[in-house]
Amino acid sequence: MKYLSILLVLLACNAVEKPSPENTVGASLSVLADTIVPPQYINGKLVKISKTDTEWKKQLTEMEYYVLRQEGTERAFTGDLWNNHEKGVYVCAACGLPLFSSDTKFDSGTGWPSFYQPIKPEYVAGYDDNSFGMTRTEVECARCGGHQGHVFDDGPKPTGLRYCINSVSLDFVKQ
Ligand code: FE
Repeated sequence: MKYLSILLVLLACNAVEKPSPENTVGASLSVLADTIVPPQYINGKLVKISKTDTEWKKQLTEMEYYVLRQEGTERAFTGDLWNNHEKGVYVCAACGLPLFSSDTKFDSGTGWPSFYQPIKPEYVAGYDDNSFGMTRTEVECARCGGHQGHVFDDGPKPTGLRYCINSVSLDFVKQ
């Protein structure tokens, strides 16, 4: 009986010291904005972030909510990053996933930050978007589903792609 008690105490301590993977992930992913929040994987799959509309509204500014959660678009030449030429990393403004590098940014003349490729293909998700009578491919953050912009096939070498992204959807982390 005595040994059983000791065993139970040991098991209880162990449980306290080792939080479940879900708890660990939740804790680190709550760090947001203006900083890189690295991706985490469980069984090789990117751990996603899911929040209610109320939670997103509380976290984001009105403009961020409009673009990131309602697939809005900022007016051209109004964002703070289209003309940014500093070296660094562009992260999702909602969850901090590093999406684009300054190394792949180019001047598209559109008034929106433009890149010819994401940092990793699996960090962005693409969907057909047939709104406004156009056929485009929508680009989202693969972790939180936040709308980033669109990708077109008229970009520069080496990919020939143009990721046309809203400044509002990105935070810039200087190198
Ligand atoms: Fe995100």
